[in-house]
Amino acid sequence: MAARVIPVDPFDLVIFGATGDLAQRKILPALYRRFAEGQMPAGSRVIGAARTEFDKAGFRAFVDETLTACLDTDPPNPEIRAAFLDALDYVALDARGDQGWTALAALMRPDVVRAFYFSVGPSLFGALAERLGAHGMATPDTRIVVEKPFGHDLTTARALNATLAAHFRETQIYRIDHYLGKETVQNLMAVRFANVLFEPLWNARFIDHVQITVAETVGVGGRGPYYDRAGAMRDMVQNHLMQLLCLIAMEPPYCFDPDAVRDEKLKVIKALDPVARGDIVRGQYAGGAGAASYLDEVENPDSLTESYVALKVGISNWRWKGTPFYLRTGKRLRARASEIAVTFRDPPHSIFGEDAPWKANVLVIRLQPDEGMTLRVMIKEPGPGGMRLKDVALDMSFAEALGDDMHIPDAYERLIMDVIRGNQTLFMRGDEVEAAWAWTDPIIAEWQKTADTPRPYDPGSSGPDDALMLMHRDGRRWREIR
Ligand code: NAP
Repeated sequence: MAARVIPVDPFDLVIFGATGDLAQRKILPALYRRFAEGQMPAGSRVIGAARTEFDKAGFRAFVDETLTACLDTDPPNPEIRAAFLDALDYVALDARGDQGWTALAALMRPDVVRAFYFSVGPSLFGALAERLGAHGMATPDTRIVVEKPFGHDLTTARALNATLAAHFRETQIYRIDHYLGKETVQNLMAVRFANVLFEPLWNARFIDHVQITVAETVGVGGRGPYYDRAGAMRDMVQNHLMQLLCLIAMEPPYCFDPDAVRDEKLKVIKALDPVARGDIVRGQYAGGAGAASYLDEVENPDSLTESYVALKVGISNWRWKGTPFYLRTGKRLRARASEIAVTFRDPPHSIFGEDAPWKANVLVIRLQPDEGMTLRVMIKEPGPGGMRLKDVALDMSFAEALGDDMHIPDAYERLIMDVIRGNQTLFMRGDEVEAAWAWTDPIIAEWQKTADTPRPYDPGSSGPDDALMLMHRDGRRWREIR
């Protein structure tokens, strides 16, 4: 089943940082795939920009190599590849200097959609916005795309919002959280709001608790210096897990409109309770079996930064009071797995007697790998011998349900095309980001004040043992990471 291609207007997309890791691994392959699907209309251009000196031909050769290295699907089609490379241009420029800016301004066309993708380190975001303004490229129709991290805390996020606001209106700013571009994450909204089945039960009366897990097997790798300043709380919870929590917990927006959706997400963030120290477990992976420890990888033997965090979060509103959300994320864990598990309460009365083996209904939404959903329900075990209950899985893999040839687009494919379409629904608004930092900052400040030491955990494990206690003491348990 081929994905439906929605046409967009011709566009000029400038990628600042076109020679960098993100551009090579994600942005350029995503654009190529959309091009191959026929979604880049004739006359559209992708203009690379970075300090590296390339002429047009040199940049095209660079992108050709990049695509060969980074496209994981379908054998390259030489004609499509050549046509895509034809749509590329390049300007060498320095975000902090004057070089290249006049040349870039001269390339811009007034009559097409114009977007600038800031795929450079966050310290350059302000410099780029200022130069776009100074060189007359911050026109009212221009869009800018800003990568994460959006600030390091509330103060820096506010300052960045103010810098961008000096040149661009909020409707022109697309703050990326690539989790929102994942098909399964968008599916959370479809499941909740396109079915009558779940919404009546979607509250503290019927839901016992929610678990959100984003587990990685990789360590910090080459991101050591950045990661050691950030940690799991800033790198994952403040943005990705927070977004997942919002989509699960928000009220139904009145329509699928960017501000209607983002208004509801913001209300959830504002209703989050402060997290008590005893409701958080921080961890740091130890070394073992030939694998380097966190401290070795970041080359900082005194680091107190967490590579794992688990926390219990309460939401003080009518819908959720009394239903805890347990969040956990970490590196070097047993498996790469992201999922949301919604555990329902037991029925008020068992007609099968007190001793009947009982398992609560659980709706599991798998974000990766094997995107899909499982609903665990109780049935009668077949055969004679009385009413024996058993819990079974109603299991749906999207790949199976939608057909094996259904290409699930990468998050960046969806998000870049939404920028071109001018649809901000899957991008974070400035006030949302600030509210998320306002909730996160006191948690981190407390750790810093008390010089809190993360608990070591074995690589390949499920995280520190203390994280188990976070749920055990509430009579609950984490789902296995596998
Ligand atoms: P990177 O590999 O270090 O690339 C940085 C890019 O910026 C390069 O193209 C570099 O090219 C360019 N650059 C550096 N200084 C410049 C200057 N003064 N003027 C113009 N261009 C300059 O970084 P990255 O990993 O691609 O990350 C880019 C952004 O995406 C960051 O904000 C990062 O936090 C975010 N991000 C990255 C990932 C990822 O998986 N990589 C994931 C999520 C978010 P030259 O050296 O040629 O100038």
